[in-house]
Amino acid sequence: MQNFVEVHRHDPEKVEATERLKTFDEIYQFFDKRQTRKQAERCVQCGDPFCATIGCPLQNHIPQWLEAIAARDLERAFYLSNESSPFPEILGRVCPQGHLCEGACTLDDGHGAITIGAIEASITDLAFDAGLQLPFPGIRHDKKVAVVGSGPAGISCAHFLLRAGIDVEMYERAERPGGLLTYGIPGFKLDKEIVDRRFKLLRKAGLKLHLQQAVGQEISLDELTEKHDAVFIGIGATKGKRGNFEGEDLPQVMMAMDYLTVKQHQIFGKDADEKYDMKGKRVVVIGGGDTAMDCLRTAMRDGAESVSCLYRRDMANMPGSRKEYYNAVEEGVDFCFNISPRRIYQRPDNQLCVEVEKTQMGEPGEDGRQRVEIIPDSSYCVPADVIILALGFDMEAMPGLLDAGVKCDKWGQVQIDPQTCVTSNPEIYSGGDCYRGADLVVTAAADGRRAALSMMRELLGK
Ligand SMILES: Cc1cc2nc3c(=O)[nH]c(=O)nc-3n(C[C@H](O)[C@H](O)[C@H](O)COP(=O)(O)OP(=O)(O)OC[C@H]3O[C@@H](n4cnc5c(N)ncnc54)[C@H](O)[C@@H]3O)c2cc1C
Ligand code: SF4
Repeated sequence: MQNFVEVHRHDPEKVEATERLKTFDEIYQFFDKRQTRKQAERCVQCGDPFCATIGCPLQNHIPQWLEAIAARDLERAFYLSNESSPFPEILGRVCPQGHLCEGACTLDDGHGAITIGAIEASITDLAFDAGLQLPFPGIRHDKKVAVVGSGPAGISCAHFLLRAGIDVEMYERAERPGGLLTYGIPGFKLDKEIVDRRFKLLRKAGLKLHLQQAVGQEISLDELTEKHDAVFIGIGATKGKRGNFEGEDLPQVMMAMDYLTVKQHQIFGKDADEKYDMKGKRVVVIGGGDTAMDCLRTAMRDGAESVSCLYRRDMANMPGSRKEYYNAVEEGVDFCFNISPRRIYQRPDNQLCVEVEKTQMGEPGEDGRQRVEIIPDSSYCVPADVIILALGFDMEAMPGLLDAGVKCDKWGQVQIDPQTCVTSNPEIYSGGDCYRGADLVVTAAADGRRAALSMMRELLGK
């Protein structure tokens, strides 16, 4: 250990941009055993590991599994990393580590943080390849829990309940499970087989998964509460926000999640409406978050003639991850900062245009973020064939939720006790994006785990 002077930080190799644009495959080649060990050996084993205590929302046992893999004990590293996390190989791929564990690593100051995410993903990939299994006890109690939604929050809750031997039935309205892991985050960031592998494991552990069962439509929340001892609601927040500017309803304008979902269905083999085919088109994406990055990079793979991002703040204030921004630039995306859309319109010659105004960054507002100031008389037109709106997400109301006595705030987000994840109905728990608003996979996983632990205390007295 402590080998950080001789061994430098290495990120996983990336496939060349020209090659990776030909497919939707993952762009990173994760570590083999030797690389995993060498990178883990850099860890200084701090007495108070900020990576775990402050950086990681799951408070994973990071120094312990780094030490285990550095000692060539893949089995121990695998069990340790799966002890606190419901899917380390997924989080190692999708977490914005620079803001979380790696940002809190002592070595981040000068030497280069430990590549925690890549090591975490590699440990579980290598362990599964080596045939290692996760121990689940089978259903050992007469208590039953219903989980609504099969995204990260729901998977996490189900995982920890099954590990305690509790019977779990999961209800999902979509055709495939995984929530945004399946239909939001594109395959070039997260291979769908990795999501499938987790579901195979959970089903083997006893999970009963009901697909195409929208709670509030095919089955009521009342029925679930009657049939089960507790219910977890993890229905996410995927209703796209609109910009409220003129022209948003034109047929060439689409919402980010509609585009990404249709593309993923197409990759799974379904037909897609021609309007979602970007081949030869000039695509303009409005927004600067991670969803915008995913749309931009998907459109590039879809054969667009040009792909541009319009964002009203500057690069320093862009919420999207820097890693994904640089990946998008390498892949040919054009970023236009300090540009605010005013309206979308069609010229008499049928040319679609986004009328934009230039902006500059002003003083910080009440929320601490610098205000956007419009520069007077600076408007001009950006021509486009397709416009994708990636302006954030709202919660979609679930029928029956309020009738079941579950309090929601004025934006429709479920209110819970953050310590226990219990809602205002003591039999109903919740977490993830439907409570936080659009956030992260790892925070949804942490909520799911917290809810499962509270249910165990309540149902089993543990
Ligand atoms: C395009 C995109 C890219 C992202 N990239 C990243 C990333 O790289 N890293 C990261 O950490 N985060 C990322 N996020 C955010 C992350 O995906 C979410 O924060 C996370 O998935 C939230 O998990 P969840 O379980 O709360 O909700 P979701 O993943 O949205 O899952 C909710 C599930 O509930 C189901 N559901 C809804 N209503 C019902 C109902 N009535 N009955 C039954 N089922 C229902 C939905 O179909 C869905 O499957 C991204 C988000 C988007 C949109
Ligand atoms: S779950 Fe995310 S934050 Fe926690 S150790 Fe893994 S990559 Fe880092």
